[in-house]
Amino acid sequence: MSLQPITNDDNKPCFFQDNFVPLKDANVNIRTHALQYGTACFGGIRAYWNQDKQNLFVFRLQEHYQRLKNSAHILHMRLPYSVEELTNITVELLRKGEWKQNVYLRPILYKSDLGLSPRVHSGQDSFAIYAIGLDDYLDTQKGLSTSVSSWTRISDNSIPTRAKVTGGYINSALAKSEAAQNNCDEAICLNREGYVSEGSAENIFLVQRGTLVTPDVSSDILEGITRRSLIEMAKDENIPLIERKVARTEIYVSDEAFFCGTGVQVAWIKSVDGRIIGNGQMGEVTRKIQNLFFDTVKGNNPRYTHWLTPVF
Ligand code: PMP
Repeated sequence: MSLQPITNDDNKPCFFQDNFVPLKDANVNIRTHALQYGTACFGGIRAYWNQDKQNLFVFRLQEHYQRLKNSAHILHMRLPYSVEELTNITVELLRKGEWKQNVYLRPILYKSDLGLSPRVHSGQDSFAIYAIGLDDYLDTQKGLSTSVSSWTRISDNSIPTRAKVTGGYINSALAKSEAAQNNCDEAICLNREGYVSEGSAENIFLVQRGTLVTPDVSSDILEGITRRSLIEMAKDENIPLIERKVARTEIYVSDEAFFCGTGVQVAWIKSVDGRIIGNGQMGEVTRKIQNLFFDTVKGNNPRYTHWLTPVF
């Protein structure tokens, strides 16, 4: 399964070359540096339509743009707008598109010049953002079958994992395809040290005797905004949580496991490498976190409304 739009969005507006144009007209030259060398950084943001409130809520918009700014900083790239300007552009894009359904937003800062030679410190950078209608990326209810990937997660010292770099996603793609070809829903990637890092495009949490355990920020993970939000929620709910190195076989003997991320949302893991996790059902802690998450992103949890940007 891949991120397939649920509607035909070709005529919806896209922010491209400092203007709003129909998505179908936002195209780049074949020589574009980012296309040739993977020199771009991007984001993935969700907005949820609330039918009762007749409003669209964007989840942690400023935090996503702060991460994009950090990615640009790591890559010596220039983001031509401030976080506040990016927030305003995004809201305008959604208003112009009259989006009244769940939406996935993809901002991208890409090296747009046509020069040869891989480098990041010079050449022109451009920014674009598009939106597509999107519901679930992976099934959040069925229990995912997963396998540990034979592909080692890229390390922060090769392609910075803290930055969301397009070129780094060849690693995700290899892991995901291998998992799919082995009839699994998703891959779990180990880092160069052999510790658990994350899924192909999502962070991972385990539950061990009532405590949430997740790989720490030096485990070559992308520091997920969903991950950070769940950590805050767990604290608010007095659920004990540890960020630390996690060994592969810890997953096998955990009581529960789940993925989290903008695309995957919160999806529970049923098996890893042919071993059933816990009792093979969605666990209590996972269910609690998942319910909190969905209530929050849809705008039904007053405790976290400051995480949402209403569009209408
Ligand atoms: N890790 C990777 C490699 C990802 O691509 C994503 C999705 N952006 C995540 C983790 C989860 O991050 P977030 O919660 O910010 O979407």
